[in-house]
Amino acid sequence: MIDFSLFPDRSPAIGYGVNPLDRLSAGRDDARLLSTLTADPASVSFAIVQDKFILESSSGAPQALFGLKDVAGFGAVQEVALLGRDQTRAYFVSLLSDHAAHVPADLALTHPHMPPQLSLVQRPDLALADLRALAVQGLFEPDILGMMAQAKSMMHWHARHRFCSVCGSPSVLASAGWKRECVACQAPHFPRTDPVVIMLAIDGDQCLLGRQARFGTGMYSALAGFLEPGETMEAAVRREIHEEAGIEIGRVRYLASQPWPFPASLMIGCLAEAVTREITIDHTELEDARWFSKQEAKLMLAGAHPDGLLPPGHIAIASHLLRAFVEGHV
Ligand SMILES: [Zn+2]
Repeated sequence: MIDFSLFPDRSPAIGYGVNPLDRLSAGRDDARLLSTLTADPASVSFAIVQDKFILESSSGAPQALFGLKDVAGFGAVQEVALLGRDQTRAYFVSLLSDHAAHVPADLALTHPHMPPQLSLVQRPDLALADLRALAVQGLFEPDILGMMAQAKSMMHWHARHRFCSVCGSPSVLASAGWKRECVACQAPHFPRTDPVVIMLAIDGDQCLLGRQARFGTGMYSALAGFLEPGETMEAAVRREIHEEAGIEIGRVRYLASQPWPFPASLMIGCLAEAVTREITIDHTELEDARWFSKQEAKLMLAGAHPDGLLPPGHIAIASHLLRAFVEGHV
């Protein structure tokens, strides 16, 4: 008999890990259902332009959901996909044409060294925001963040798959946004999710963390890498740790997963049993990697490391892997 109490579902506690929607997968080709949901004034939609969410915040807390008719007033709507439905209403995501947003000429001139501040051409009063920043700021409830992750990954895929990868002809959205079909050869194409393994190598009461040059000062995190074709999750964990840090890995255990909409990954969080200790850093991937004791990791999570070293951000699954290691829930 399998004791499932040994395998708690940790994923909903991790950023983007909650999504309350019934995805209505059986209704995606039901034209009548779709037109009913589209016409329902209670239905709402996220609106995305150039990978940014459109926000309205005139009445205090920012709102990312709009009536479908309102979205049409933001600029040319290129694609609309059905995310799903909860007890009260249906949720869509609308992708606006890239031309719906621009960098106002005065801003481009006054801030030559700042990242371009995009603004909606037709509604400059609305804000455009990056999902990563919104998640870090905690401006939205977890269930809304989960839907935003779904919405962003979907529209990132649509925006970059306008042509058939079999014959090169244009493709069009189908099945309420869960498919594209080629207009010439009819080949179907489906939204992709790219699996990434992210893992802590553990040796007794020490774990392995590394840092990339692009990380904030003093931040160390779990190692990670894309799964390759024909590879198991466990093999990918062993390969990535060996490539990046030269450590040999024995047993591998899955702990939790996290949708990661940058642009469309699933982070598969694992714990890995280190069977060697000597670190050889691949400097093309990592700036540094080293062993951290449980006590040191605990201080990092508490923001009290004597050298000011920092843990991964609380939104990331790496932070949960580290916490599970420190708390011994492994
Ligand atoms: Zn084709």
